[in-house]
Amino acid sequence: MIDTSSQIIVIVGAGPAGLLLAHYLLRRGYRVQIYDRRPDPRQIAPDQQRSFPISLQHRGRRALQNIPGLEEAIAEYSVMCRGTYVHRKSKARCIPRKHPILTVDRNRLVLVLLEQLVARYPEPTQLSLTFDCPCQGVDSQAQTVSFQAADGQSFSVNYDRLIGADGAKSCVRAALVAEHGLNCQQAFVPDAYKSIFLARTNRSQGVELAPDFIHACNIGGDARILLAPQPGDQMHGAFIFSAKNSPFGRLKTKADVLDYFATQLPTFRPLLSEAEAEALLQRPTARLTTLTCDRFHQGDRILILGDAAHAVSPSIGQGCNSALQDVEWVNQLLDQYQDDWSQVLPQFSQQRVIEAHALRDLSDYSFPRSKALVLEFFLRLTVGRKLHQWFPQRFSPFVFDLVLDTDLNYSEVLRLSEGWINKVKRSMAATASAPEVTS
Ligand SMILES: Cc1cc2nc3c(=O)[nH]c(=O)nc-3n(C[C@H](O)[C@H](O)[C@H](O)COP(=O)(O)OP(=O)(O)OC[C@H]3O[C@@H](n4cnc5c(N)ncnc54)[C@H](O)[C@@H]3O)c2cc1C
Repeated sequence: MIDTSSQIIVIVGAGPAGLLLAHYLLRRGYRVQIYDRRPDPRQIAPDQQRSFPISLQHRGRRALQNIPGLEEAIAEYSVMCRGTYVHRKSKARCIPRKHPILTVDRNRLVLVLLEQLVARYPEPTQLSLTFDCPCQGVDSQAQTVSFQAADGQSFSVNYDRLIGADGAKSCVRAALVAEHGLNCQQAFVPDAYKSIFLARTNRSQGVELAPDFIHACNIGGDARILLAPQPGDQMHGAFIFSAKNSPFGRLKTKADVLDYFATQLPTFRPLLSEAEAEALLQRPTARLTTLTCDRFHQGDRILILGDAAHAVSPSIGQGCNSALQDVEWVNQLLDQYQDDWSQVLPQFSQQRVIEAHALRDLSDYSFPRSKALVLEFFLRLTVGRKLHQWFPQRFSPFVFDLVLDTDLNYSEVLRLSEGWINKVKRSMAATASAPEVTS
Protein backbone atom coordinates (compact mmCIF):
# COMPACT_ATOMS: atom_id res chain seq x y z
CA MET A 1 0.00 0.00 0.00
CA ILE A 2 1.56 3.37 -0.95
CA ASP A 3 1.81 6.29 1.45
CA THR A 4 -0.46 8.76 -0.36
CA SER A 5 0.45 11.62 1.98
CA SER A 6 3.99 11.69 0.55
CA GLN A 7 2.74 12.05 -3.05
CA ILE A 8 2.32 15.47 -4.67
CA ILE A 9 -0.38 15.60 -7.33
CA VAL A 10 -0.30 18.73 -9.47
CA ILE A 11 -3.64 19.47 -11.14
CA VAL A 12 -3.57 22.01 -13.98
CA GLY A 13 -7.05 23.52 -14.36
CA ALA A 14 -9.56 24.42 -11.64
CA GLY A 15 -12.64 23.69 -13.73
CA PRO A 16 -15.32 21.15 -12.77
CA ALA A 17 -13.07 18.13 -13.51
CA GLY A 18 -9.93 19.43 -11.77
CA LEU A 19 -11.77 20.55 -8.65
CA LEU A 20 -13.85 17.39 -8.28
CA LEU A 21 -10.71 15.28 -8.74
CA ALA A 22 -9.06 17.30 -5.96
CA HIS A 23 -11.95 16.37 -3.64
CA TYR A 24 -11.46 12.67 -4.39
CA LEU A 25 -7.64 12.72 -4.14
CA LEU A 26 -7.56 14.75 -0.92
CA ARG A 27 -10.00 12.28 0.59
CA ARG A 28 -7.53 9.52 -0.33
CA GLY A 29 -4.80 11.41 1.57
CA TYR A 30 -2.77 12.83 -1.36
CA ARG A 31 -1.21 16.31 -1.30
CA VAL A 32 -2.79 18.36 -4.06
CA GLN A 33 -1.59 21.53 -5.77
CA ILE A 34 -4.00 23.22 -8.18
CA TYR A 35 -3.02 25.89 -10.72
CA ASP A 36 -5.37 27.82 -12.99
CA ARG A 37 -4.76 30.52 -15.54
CA ARG A 38 -7.92 32.43 -14.57
CA PRO A 39 -8.37 34.67 -11.52
CA ASP A 40 -9.67 33.18 -8.26
CA PRO A 41 -13.45 32.85 -8.76
CA ARG A 42 -13.99 33.72 -5.08
CA GLN A 43 -12.70 37.23 -5.86
CA ILE A 44 -15.06 37.92 -8.78
CA ALA A 45 -18.84 38.26 -8.92
CA PRO A 46 -20.07 35.22 -10.91
CA ASP A 47 -22.14 37.43 -13.25
CA GLN A 48 -19.01 39.33 -14.34
CA GLN A 49 -17.64 36.27 -16.10
CA ARG A 50 -18.71 34.65 -19.35
CA SER A 51 -20.73 31.59 -18.46
CA PHE A 52 -23.53 29.24 -19.49
CA PRO A 53 -25.82 26.76 -17.76
CA ILE A 54 -24.81 23.13 -17.42
CA SER A 55 -27.32 20.28 -17.11
CA LEU A 56 -26.18 17.35 -15.04
CA GLN A 57 -27.93 14.00 -15.08
CA HIS A 58 -27.08 10.56 -13.64
CA ARG A 59 -23.48 10.36 -14.80
CA GLY A 60 -22.30 13.74 -13.52
CA ARG A 61 -24.57 13.75 -10.49
CA ARG A 62 -23.37 10.37 -9.24
CA ALA A 63 -19.76 11.56 -9.38
CA LEU A 64 -20.76 14.54 -7.19
CA GLN A 65 -22.91 12.45 -4.84
CA ASN A 66 -19.95 10.23 -3.89
CA ILE A 67 -18.53 13.17 -1.95
CA PRO A 68 -21.01 13.63 0.91
CA GLY A 69 -22.69 17.04 0.99
CA LEU A 70 -21.30 18.22 -2.36
CA GLU A 71 -24.38 17.86 -4.52
CA GLU A 72 -26.53 19.41 -1.77
CA ALA A 73 -24.22 22.45 -1.68
CA ILE A 74 -24.45 22.80 -5.50
CA ALA A 75 -28.23 22.25 -5.44
CA GLU A 76 -28.64 25.44 -3.39
CA TYR A 77 -27.71 27.38 -6.53
CA SER A 78 -29.39 25.07 -9.04
CA VAL A 79 -32.79 24.24 -10.41
CA MET A 80 -33.99 20.67 -10.76
CA CYS A 81 -35.61 20.45 -14.19
CA ARG A 82 -38.24 17.85 -15.06
CA GLY A 83 -37.72 18.01 -18.81
CA THR A 84 -37.73 20.39 -21.76
CA TYR A 85 -40.33 22.59 -23.39
CA VAL A 86 -39.69 22.85 -27.12
CA HIS A 87 -41.33 26.11 -28.21
CA ARG A 88 -42.73 26.79 -31.64
CA LYS A 89 -44.01 30.17 -32.78
CA SER A 90 -47.47 29.65 -31.28
CA LYS A 91 -47.34 26.48 -29.19
CA ALA A 92 -44.95 24.43 -27.07
CA ARG A 93 -44.36 20.70 -26.71
CA CYS A 94 -43.40 19.27 -23.32
CA ILE A 95 -40.80 16.49 -23.28
CA PRO A 96 -40.67 15.20 -19.70
CA ARG A 97 -37.66 13.34 -18.29
CA LYS A 98 -37.86 10.30 -16.02
CA HIS A 99 -35.23 11.69 -13.66
CA PRO A 100 -34.68 15.33 -12.68
CA ILE A 101 -31.81 17.18 -14.32
CA LEU A 102 -29.73 19.47 -12.14
CA THR A 103 -29.09 22.73 -14.02
CA VAL A 104 -26.45 25.07 -12.68
CA ASP A 105 -24.43 27.97 -14.01
CA ARG A 106 -20.93 26.72 -14.97
CA ASN A 107 -19.11 29.36 -12.94
CA ARG A 108 -21.36 28.80 -9.94
CA LEU A 109 -20.62 25.07 -10.11
CA VAL A 110 -16.89 25.83 -10.07
CA LEU A 111 -17.25 28.30 -7.20
CA VAL A 112 -19.16 25.84 -4.99
CA LEU A 113 -16.69 23.01 -5.73
CA LEU A 114 -13.86 25.35 -4.76
CA GLU A 115 -15.50 26.71 -1.61
CA GLN A 116 -16.30 23.18 -0.46
CA LEU A 117 -12.70 22.16 -1.09
CA VAL A 118 -11.16 24.90 1.03
CA ALA A 119 -13.77 24.40 3.77
CA ARG A 120 -12.81 20.72 4.04
CA TYR A 121 -9.04 20.88 3.47
CA PRO A 122 -7.47 24.05 4.88
CA GLU A 123 -4.49 25.34 2.93
CA PRO A 124 -1.54 24.85 2.83
CA THR A 125 -0.97 21.49 4.57
CA GLN A 126 -2.67 19.16 2.12
CA LEU A 127 -4.00 21.60 -0.49
CA SER A 128 -2.53 24.59 -2.31
CA LEU A 129 -4.32 26.79 -4.84
CA THR A 130 -2.73 29.24 -7.26
CA PHE A 131 -4.76 31.37 -9.69
CA ASP A 132 -3.75 33.80 -12.45
CA CYS A 133 -1.10 31.28 -13.29
CA PRO A 134 -1.12 29.73 -16.80
CA CYS A 135 0.74 26.50 -17.38
CA GLN A 136 3.53 26.98 -19.91
CA GLY A 137 5.05 23.56 -20.37
CA VAL A 138 5.93 20.17 -18.96
CA ASP A 139 9.34 18.54 -18.54
CA SER A 140 8.43 14.90 -18.03
CA GLN A 141 12.08 13.81 -17.59
CA ALA A 142 12.60 16.19 -14.70
CA GLN A 143 8.97 15.71 -13.51
CA THR A 144 8.38 19.44 -13.47
CA VAL A 145 5.67 21.68 -14.84
CA SER A 146 6.24 25.37 -15.50
CA PHE A 147 3.89 28.31 -14.97
CA GLN A 148 3.84 32.05 -15.39
CA ALA A 149 3.05 33.84 -12.12
CA ALA A 150 0.79 36.91 -11.93
CA ASP A 151 3.89 39.17 -11.82
CA GLY A 152 5.07 37.72 -15.14
CA GLN A 153 7.87 35.58 -13.64
CA SER A 154 8.14 31.94 -14.70
CA PHE A 155 8.58 29.18 -12.14
CA SER A 156 8.49 25.37 -12.05
CA VAL A 157 7.09 22.88 -9.59
CA ASN A 158 7.84 19.18 -9.10
CA TYR A 159 5.13 16.57 -9.32
CA ASP A 160 4.74 12.90 -8.52
CA ARG A 161 1.65 12.79 -10.77
CA LEU A 162 0.48 15.49 -13.15
CA ILE A 163 -3.18 15.86 -14.14
CA GLY A 164 -4.14 17.95 -17.16
CA ALA A 165 -7.69 19.15 -16.43
CA ASP A 166 -7.06 22.34 -18.34
CA GLY A 167 -9.87 22.26 -20.85
CA ALA A 168 -10.09 22.00 -24.63
CA LYS A 169 -6.89 24.04 -25.25
CA SER A 170 -4.94 21.98 -22.71
CA CYS A 171 -1.28 22.85 -22.29
CA VAL A 172 -0.57 19.44 -20.70
CA ARG A 173 -2.11 17.67 -23.71
CA ALA A 174 -0.05 19.86 -26.06
CA ALA A 175 3.11 18.69 -24.25
CA LEU A 176 2.08 15.03 -24.69
CA VAL A 177 1.42 15.64 -28.40
CA ALA A 178 4.72 17.46 -28.91
CA GLU A 179 6.99 15.19 -26.87
CA HIS A 180 5.32 11.82 -26.47
CA GLY A 181 3.57 11.21 -29.78
CA LEU A 182 0.03 11.49 -28.41
CA ASN A 183 -2.24 11.38 -31.43
CA CYS A 184 -4.94 14.04 -31.18
CA GLN A 185 -7.30 15.33 -33.85
CA GLN A 186 -9.16 18.58 -33.40
CA ALA A 187 -12.24 19.69 -35.31
CA PHE A 188 -14.40 22.78 -35.09
CA VAL A 189 -18.02 22.08 -34.16
CA PRO A 190 -20.06 23.66 -37.00
CA ASP A 191 -22.01 25.62 -34.37
CA ALA A 192 -20.98 28.84 -32.68
CA TYR A 193 -22.79 30.36 -29.69
CA LYS A 194 -23.38 33.46 -27.61
CA SER A 195 -24.44 33.37 -23.96
CA ILE A 196 -27.86 34.90 -23.37
CA PHE A 197 -29.74 36.05 -20.25
CA LEU A 198 -33.53 36.40 -20.26
CA ALA A 199 -36.25 36.92 -17.67
CA ARG A 200 -38.50 33.92 -17.07
CA THR A 201 -41.62 35.97 -16.53
CA ASN A 202 -43.11 39.19 -17.83
CA ARG A 203 -46.24 39.52 -15.74
CA SER A 204 -47.44 42.73 -17.40
CA GLN A 205 -47.60 40.80 -20.70
CA GLY A 206 -48.92 37.61 -19.09
CA VAL A 207 -45.83 35.54 -19.95
CA GLU A 208 -44.52 33.00 -17.46
CA LEU A 209 -42.41 30.03 -18.54
CA ALA A 210 -42.34 26.89 -16.37
CA PRO A 211 -39.71 27.33 -13.62
CA ASP A 212 -38.60 23.69 -13.61
CA PHE A 213 -38.16 22.97 -17.32
CA ILE A 214 -35.43 23.74 -19.81
CA HIS A 215 -36.80 25.88 -22.66
CA ALA A 216 -35.68 25.36 -26.25
CA CYS A 217 -36.65 26.68 -29.65
CA ASN A 218 -35.36 25.73 -33.09
CA ILE A 219 -35.34 28.79 -35.27
CA GLY A 220 -34.31 27.26 -38.58
CA GLY A 221 -31.15 27.91 -40.58
CA ASP A 222 -29.33 25.83 -37.92
CA ALA A 223 -30.08 28.38 -35.17
CA ARG A 224 -31.60 27.45 -31.83
CA ILE A 225 -31.88 28.76 -28.35
CA LEU A 226 -31.53 26.73 -25.13
CA LEU A 227 -32.43 28.31 -21.80
CA ALA A 228 -32.18 26.90 -18.30
CA PRO A 229 -34.11 28.48 -15.44
CA GLN A 230 -31.93 29.88 -12.66
CA PRO A 231 -32.94 30.32 -9.04
CA GLY A 232 -35.17 33.43 -9.02
CA ASP A 233 -36.89 34.65 -12.15
CA GLN A 234 -33.96 34.51 -14.57
CA MET A 235 -33.08 32.16 -17.42
CA HIS A 236 -29.58 31.69 -18.62
CA GLY A 237 -28.63 29.95 -21.82
CA ALA A 238 -26.96 29.78 -25.17
CA PHE A 239 -28.02 31.14 -28.53
CA ILE A 240 -26.52 28.57 -30.91
CA PHE A 241 -26.12 29.11 -34.65
CA SER A 242 -24.12 27.94 -37.62
CA ALA A 243 -20.69 29.56 -37.60
CA LYS A 244 -20.96 29.89 -41.39
CA ASN A 245 -24.42 31.46 -41.31
CA SER A 246 -24.56 33.64 -38.21
CA PRO A 247 -27.76 35.67 -37.77
CA PHE A 248 -25.49 38.33 -36.24
CA GLY A 249 -24.13 39.02 -39.71
CA ARG A 250 -27.53 40.66 -40.40
CA LEU A 251 -28.33 41.99 -36.94
CA LYS A 252 -26.54 45.34 -36.63
CA THR A 253 -28.53 47.28 -34.04
CA LYS A 254 -30.48 46.67 -30.85
CA ALA A 255 -33.71 47.27 -32.82
CA ASP A 256 -32.67 44.51 -35.28
CA VAL A 257 -32.23 42.07 -32.38
CA LEU A 258 -35.60 42.98 -30.86
CA ASP A 259 -37.28 42.57 -34.29
CA TYR A 260 -35.55 39.22 -34.83
CA PHE A 261 -36.90 37.94 -31.53
CA ALA A 262 -40.39 39.30 -32.32
CA THR A 263 -40.51 37.38 -35.61
CA GLN A 264 -38.39 34.27 -34.93
CA LEU A 265 -38.74 33.78 -31.17
CA PRO A 266 -42.06 35.42 -30.26
CA THR A 267 -42.39 33.48 -26.97
CA PHE A 268 -39.07 34.87 -25.79
CA ARG A 269 -39.46 38.46 -27.05
CA PRO A 270 -41.29 39.73 -23.90
CA LEU A 271 -38.51 38.20 -21.81
CA LEU A 272 -35.70 40.02 -23.62
CA SER A 273 -34.83 43.42 -22.17
CA GLU A 274 -33.48 46.22 -24.34
CA ALA A 275 -30.25 46.16 -22.33
CA GLU A 276 -29.81 42.42 -23.03
CA ALA A 277 -30.53 42.96 -26.75
CA GLU A 278 -27.67 45.47 -26.84
CA ALA A 279 -25.41 43.26 -24.71
CA LEU A 280 -26.10 40.26 -26.98
CA LEU A 281 -24.84 42.23 -29.99
CA GLN A 282 -21.63 43.16 -28.19
CA ARG A 283 -21.01 39.73 -26.60
CA PRO A 284 -18.32 37.75 -28.41
CA THR A 285 -19.22 34.69 -30.44
CA ALA A 286 -17.57 31.53 -29.15
CA ARG A 287 -16.52 28.57 -31.29
CA LEU A 288 -16.16 25.07 -29.95
CA THR A 289 -13.70 22.29 -30.58
CA THR A 290 -14.08 18.53 -30.64
CA LEU A 291 -11.05 16.42 -29.67
CA THR A 292 -10.24 12.84 -30.49
CA CYS A 293 -7.17 11.45 -28.67
CA ASP A 294 -5.83 7.92 -28.91
CA ARG A 295 -4.89 7.76 -25.20
CA PHE A 296 -5.25 9.86 -22.10
CA HIS A 297 -2.05 9.10 -20.20
CA GLN A 298 1.72 9.06 -20.42
CA GLY A 299 3.61 6.38 -18.51
CA ASP A 300 2.64 6.18 -14.86
CA ARG A 301 2.81 9.91 -14.12
CA ILE A 302 0.66 12.04 -16.45
CA LEU A 303 -3.09 11.94 -17.10
CA ILE A 304 -5.45 14.20 -19.04
CA LEU A 305 -9.19 14.17 -18.41
CA GLY A 306 -12.41 16.09 -19.01
CA ASP A 307 -12.39 18.56 -21.91
CA ALA A 308 -8.59 18.38 -22.05
CA ALA A 309 -8.94 14.78 -23.21
CA HIS A 310 -12.26 14.70 -25.05
CA ALA A 311 -14.00 18.05 -25.60
CA VAL A 312 -17.29 17.50 -27.46
CA SER A 313 -20.11 19.57 -28.92
CA PRO A 314 -22.57 20.63 -26.17
CA SER A 315 -25.54 19.51 -28.32
CA ILE A 316 -26.53 16.66 -25.97
CA GLY A 317 -25.19 18.24 -22.76
CA GLN A 318 -22.65 15.57 -21.85
CA GLY A 319 -19.26 17.35 -21.77
CA CYS A 320 -19.35 18.11 -18.07
CA ASN A 321 -21.22 14.92 -17.21
CA SER A 322 -18.45 12.90 -18.83
CA ALA A 323 -15.71 15.06 -17.28
CA LEU A 324 -17.12 14.40 -13.79
CA GLN A 325 -17.59 10.74 -14.66
CA ASP A 326 -13.87 10.56 -15.62
CA VAL A 327 -13.06 11.58 -12.06
CA GLU A 328 -15.28 8.89 -10.57
CA TRP A 329 -13.62 6.40 -12.94
CA VAL A 330 -10.10 7.40 -11.78
CA ASN A 331 -11.21 6.94 -8.19
CA GLN A 332 -12.63 3.48 -8.89
CA LEU A 333 -9.39 2.43 -10.58
CA LEU A 334 -7.36 3.77 -7.64
CA ASP A 335 -9.54 1.59 -5.39
CA GLN A 336 -9.17 -1.41 -7.68
CA TYR A 337 -5.37 -1.13 -8.02
CA GLN A 338 -4.61 0.14 -4.47
CA ASP A 339 -3.29 3.48 -5.78
CA ASP A 340 -0.80 1.84 -8.14
CA TRP A 341 -0.76 4.54 -10.82
CA SER A 342 1.31 2.38 -13.17
CA GLN A 343 -1.82 0.24 -13.57
CA VAL A 344 -4.47 2.91 -13.08
CA LEU A 345 -3.35 5.22 -15.91
CA PRO A 346 -3.17 2.67 -18.77
CA GLN A 347 -6.45 1.16 -17.58
CA PHE A 348 -8.05 4.60 -17.64
CA SER A 349 -7.02 5.08 -21.28
CA GLN A 350 -8.11 1.58 -22.20
CA GLN A 351 -11.56 1.97 -20.69
CA ARG A 352 -12.30 5.66 -21.31
CA VAL A 353 -10.98 6.30 -24.83
CA ILE A 354 -13.66 4.08 -26.36
CA GLU A 355 -16.31 5.89 -24.30
CA ALA A 356 -14.98 9.28 -25.35
CA HIS A 357 -15.04 8.34 -29.03
CA ALA A 358 -18.62 7.09 -28.67
CA LEU A 359 -19.58 10.32 -26.89
CA ARG A 360 -18.07 12.37 -29.72
CA ASP A 361 -20.24 10.54 -32.28
CA LEU A 362 -23.34 10.90 -30.11
CA SER A 363 -22.66 14.63 -29.61
CA ASP A 364 -21.97 15.28 -33.30
CA TYR A 365 -24.77 13.22 -34.77
CA SER A 366 -27.72 12.85 -32.35
CA PHE A 367 -29.28 16.14 -33.36
CA PRO A 368 -29.98 16.44 -37.10
CA ARG A 369 -29.65 19.54 -39.26
CA SER A 370 -31.84 18.78 -42.28
CA LYS A 371 -35.51 19.85 -42.01
CA ALA A 372 -36.84 16.39 -42.87
CA LEU A 373 -34.73 14.73 -40.19
CA VAL A 374 -35.67 17.36 -37.60
CA LEU A 375 -39.31 16.30 -38.16
CA GLU A 376 -38.36 12.66 -37.80
CA PHE A 377 -36.35 13.54 -34.71
CA PHE A 378 -39.42 14.96 -32.93
CA LEU A 379 -41.54 12.01 -34.08
CA ARG A 380 -39.02 9.61 -32.59
CA LEU A 381 -38.91 11.64 -29.38
CA THR A 382 -42.69 11.51 -28.94
CA VAL A 383 -44.24 8.65 -30.93
CA GLY A 384 -41.09 6.52 -30.58
CA ARG A 385 -41.23 6.92 -26.82
CA LYS A 386 -44.83 5.63 -26.77
CA LEU A 387 -43.92 2.72 -29.05
CA HIS A 388 -41.12 1.79 -26.67
CA GLN A 389 -43.54 1.90 -23.72
CA TRP A 390 -46.04 -0.36 -25.54
CA PHE A 391 -43.60 -2.73 -27.31
CA PRO A 392 -40.31 -2.56 -25.38
CA GLN A 393 -38.97 -5.70 -27.12
CA ARG A 394 -39.39 -4.25 -30.61
CA PHE A 395 -38.61 -0.55 -30.10
CA SER A 396 -35.57 0.56 -28.09
CA PRO A 397 -35.61 4.04 -26.47
CA PHE A 398 -34.54 6.96 -28.66
CA VAL A 399 -30.96 8.19 -28.35
CA PHE A 400 -31.85 11.28 -26.25
CA ASP A 401 -33.74 9.15 -23.74
CA LEU A 402 -30.80 6.75 -23.51
CA VAL A 403 -28.36 9.61 -22.95
CA LEU A 404 -30.48 11.59 -20.51
CA ASP A 405 -32.56 9.02 -18.64
CA THR A 406 -30.06 6.16 -18.19
CA ASP A 407 -26.48 5.80 -17.04
CA LEU A 408 -25.55 3.35 -19.79
CA ASN A 409 -22.01 3.71 -21.09
CA TYR A 410 -21.80 5.94 -24.17
CA SER A 411 -20.51 3.02 -26.24
CA GLU A 412 -23.67 1.07 -25.39
CA VAL A 413 -25.91 4.07 -26.19
CA LEU A 414 -24.13 4.36 -29.53
CA ARG A 415 -24.61 0.67 -30.27
CA LEU A 416 -28.34 0.90 -29.51
CA SER A 417 -28.71 4.09 -31.58
CA GLU A 418 -26.50 3.20 -34.53
CA GLY A 419 -29.31 3.38 -37.11
CA TRP A 420 -30.27 6.94 -36.24
CA ILE A 421 -26.69 8.15 -35.77
CA ASN A 422 -25.65 6.78 -39.17
CA LYS A 423 -28.68 8.39 -40.81
CA VAL A 424 -27.78 11.82 -39.39
CA LYS A 425 -24.12 11.29 -40.30
CA ARG A 426 -25.06 10.54 -43.92
CA SER A 427 -27.34 13.58 -44.14
CA MET A 428 -24.60 15.83 -42.76
CA ALA A 429 -22.03 14.42 -45.14
CA ALA A 430 -24.46 15.17 -47.99
CA THR A 431 -24.86 18.80 -46.87
CA ALA A 432 -21.19 19.13 -45.84
CA SER A 433 -22.17 20.18 -42.29
CA ALA A 434 -19.97 17.68 -40.52
CA PRO A 435 -17.30 18.99 -38.06
CA GLU A 436 -14.34 20.64 -39.87
CA VAL A 437 -11.05 18.94 -38.98
CA THR A 438 -8.47 21.56 -38.01
CA SER A 439 -5.40 19.47 -37.29
C1 LIG B 1 -22.62 26.59 -24.31
C2 LIG B 1 -22.21 25.34 -23.59
C3 LIG B 1 -23.16 24.58 -22.93
C4 LIG B 1 -22.79 23.41 -22.27
N1 LIG B 1 -23.76 22.68 -21.66
C5 LIG B 1 -23.43 21.53 -21.03
C6 LIG B 1 -24.42 20.76 -20.37
O1 LIG B 1 -25.61 21.12 -20.35
N2 LIG B 1 -24.04 19.60 -19.76
C7 LIG B 1 -22.74 19.16 -19.79
O2 LIG B 1 -22.47 18.08 -19.25
N3 LIG B 1 -21.78 19.89 -20.39
C8 LIG B 1 -22.08 21.05 -21.01
N4 LIG B 1 -21.09 21.80 -21.61
C9 LIG B 1 -19.69 21.31 -21.59
C10 LIG B 1 -18.97 21.68 -20.27
O3 LIG B 1 -18.96 23.06 -20.08
C11 LIG B 1 -17.54 21.17 -20.31
O4 LIG B 1 -17.50 19.86 -20.79
C12 LIG B 1 -16.93 21.20 -18.89
O5 LIG B 1 -16.84 22.53 -18.45
C13 LIG B 1 -15.56 20.53 -18.89
O6 LIG B 1 -14.96 20.68 -17.64
P1 LIG B 1 -13.36 20.65 -17.50
O7 LIG B 1 -13.08 20.87 -16.07
O8 LIG B 1 -12.83 19.44 -18.15
O9 LIG B 1 -12.82 21.87 -18.39
P2 LIG B 1 -13.11 23.43 -18.29
O10 LIG B 1 -14.46 23.71 -17.75
O11 LIG B 1 -12.76 23.99 -19.62
O12 LIG B 1 -12.02 23.95 -17.20
C14 LIG B 1 -10.67 24.00 -17.54
C15 LIG B 1 -9.95 24.89 -16.55
O13 LIG B 1 -8.57 24.89 -16.92
C16 LIG B 1 -8.08 26.23 -16.90
N5 LIG B 1 -6.97 26.32 -17.87
C17 LIG B 1 -7.03 26.28 -19.21
N6 LIG B 1 -5.81 26.39 -19.75
C18 LIG B 1 -4.94 26.50 -18.70
C19 LIG B 1 -3.52 26.65 -18.61
N7 LIG B 1 -2.73 26.70 -19.70
N8 LIG B 1 -2.97 26.74 -17.38
C20 LIG B 1 -3.75 26.69 -16.25
N9 LIG B 1 -5.09 26.55 -16.30
C21 LIG B 1 -5.67 26.45 -17.50
C22 LIG B 1 -9.27 27.08 -17.27
O14 LIG B 1 -9.11 28.41 -16.80
C23 LIG B 1 -10.41 26.33 -16.57
O15 LIG B 1 -10.60 26.80 -15.26
C24 LIG B 1 -21.43 22.99 -22.27
C25 LIG B 1 -20.46 23.76 -22.92
C26 LIG B 1 -20.84 24.92 -23.58
C27 LIG B 1 -19.78 25.74 -24.26
